[in-house]
Amino acid sequence: MKIIDAHIHYKPEYEPFNLVAENSGHKNTAEHLKAEFEKNNICHAIVMGNITADVKDHNYPDNMSYCIGFDSKCFVDLEKNYDYFVYMAEENLKRDNCVGIKLYPGYCHYYVYDKIYTPFYNLAKKYEKPVAIHTGAVSNPSALLKYSHPLTLDEAAVKFPNVRFVMCHFGNPFLADAAAVCEKNRNITIDISGLIEGNFDVNWYFKAKSGYVEILKAWLNYFGDYKRIMYGSDWPIVNIEKYIEVIKNIIPKENHQDVFFNNAVDIYNLKI
Ligand SMILES: [Zn+2]
Repeated sequence: MKIIDAHIHYKPEYEPFNLVAENSGHKNTAEHLKAEFEKNNICHAIVMGNITADVKDHNYPDNMSYCIGFDSKCFVDLEKNYDYFVYMAEENLKRDNCVGIKLYPGYCHYYVYDKIYTPFYNLAKKYEKPVAIHTGAVSNPSALLKYSHPLTLDEAAVKFPNVRFVMCHFGNPFLADAAAVCEKNRNITIDISGLIEGNFDVNWYFKAKSGYVEILKAWLNYFGDYKRIMYGSDWPIVNIEKYIEVIKNIIPKENHQDVFFNNAVDIYNLKI
């Protein structure tokens, strides 16, 4: 089965990512990732952009598309540079390999339904490209969970019914709230990236985390629409091979083709 990884971060040799990759049993180089993709039958990946909005900074290999991302490092002096960010969002969205927008609430201290994001949602609608939204746990202590809680996506999804949203990380660990929001709003698709970090033994994982795995399975099953769930890893934070193995075990076999491939093609309108 060919796989699309619908959520990675791609900055080869970028110092802060190097150690993260090593902790996952990887190396943060273009060559290593290419080899890992080949080994695991990953034919395409969606890069969640961050750090810079400048269209010139977003160049990726042919087997990658990207979402133009606006994280807390990117949104520097947001009020002063607001028009620049909206302009850059559009400059990126004009490109074929830019397949969406990525927002980072939690790290950015705005709710996703804040009017500050309205021009970005309007652009997503105009270019018919989805908006992926970080939800749930945050890796930086200065980030605020109240902004990244999956329940906040409800209001954005209602206000912008013609925008397709991607709820990244299934709101983990707020899984019950995430399932309720996604069940109610048909314009939200889930990506199940980043639920585990690092390198680990898969058998150990299923024993040590059996309670969590059962809860995760239960809420995915409650949500139940496997046409709206996409595989993603959140590279470089997790070992790719082992994460695929875990997710294959969690998603019912009859849904693998959709979750690991078809749904990402549909949601991100990939021409592959
Ligand atoms: Zn991510």
